[in-house]
Amino acid sequence: MLTRTPDYYSSFRCLAGACPHTCCAKWEVVIDPDTAGRYEAVPGPLGERLRAALVRDEDGDWCFPLQGERCPFLDGENLCEIHRQLGEAATSVTCREHPRFTEDYGPFREITLSASCPAANALLLGSEAPLTFREEGSMEEPADHDTALLLALRDRLLAVLADRRMPLRRRLERFLTAALAAQDALDTWDEDALSALAAGELPPEPPRVEDGPGLFPDALGLLSGLEILEPDWRELLRQAETAPAAEVPEPLLERIAVYFAFRYLLKAVNDGDLLGQAQLCLLAVLTVERLAPVTGLGEALRRFSCEVEHDDGNLEALLEAFRQETPPLAAFFRQLG
Ligand code: SF4
Repeated sequence: MLTRTPDYYSSFRCLAGACPHTCCAKWEVVIDPDTAGRYEAVPGPLGERLRAALVRDEDGDWCFPLQGERCPFLDGENLCEIHRQLGEAATSVTCREHPRFTEDYGPFREITLSASCPAANALLLGSEAPLTFREEGSMEEPADHDTALLLALRDRLLAVLADRRMPLRRRLERFLTAALAAQDALDTWDEDALSALAAGELPPEPPRVEDGPGLFPDALGLLSGLEILEPDWRELLRQAETAPAAEVPEPLLERIAVYFAFRYLLKAVNDGDLLGQAQLCLLAVLTVERLAPVTGLGEALRRFSCEVEHDDGNLEALLEAFRQETPPLAAFFRQLG
């Protein structure tokens, strides 16, 4: 199996008890059935507490309901009692995997580190070098034709974002222009056009759009209408509507753009919606930039990731909004133009 990861992946270390935003609070963790089954046999007081704490959530999954917004097994030193007493292997798959997002594409998989995690966030924003990706292992069989084509297209779009010969705003515009052309070709399954785009024959100019408003502030309203994790999120978005623009270093914003594009574009293999995923990436980058004067850049990215990336319902709601043209595609181009 070939595994692809960002270049800082192996430097990740959980901050454990020193973490300022532990992942063991605010989120209710699903306990996978194997782990829940093993808790049946844990002896002693911890075993009794584990079994007493386990309940089914509304989806029928096992979970530990939060107590005072914290996992009931998070101790006074912000360490996991299950991990401490029984070892990491006794924790649930979700706990062991976080902050890793793993996407399985058959003969290869991709693992990213969620920017919601302070340690992963600091690694992403701790360098101004172009973000690159490493591969380990090999594919036992080639990726299927469609996946291979999308992979080549994503590589091209990542290269557009990383092309430091032009200002980032222009790169983001080229990224969206190329994604739009790719979507047209995907919709009619024009393989020649897709191959040409993947080979670097990109549209020279964005489409002409009529005058009108850009993405903001309406996009902040769209985000405000989603499910929220923390109650101050909507207030932060409201403050971002009027906050003066901050000078975010382009190399850092580029790394954020590449982080999102790497993670989301290839998901189009599931439904063919490459343009929607590209719009999601742009909304993320531009919102983080907009929020940076309110919270600081790292915190803006961390909060966006917590509120949007970790909620599948919110991700799907955004993709559906893009399909409904709310906000319209033209607003993205006007924002970048
Ligand atoms: S958020 Fe990251 S650093 Fe903090 S406890 Fe969780 S995995 Fe560790």
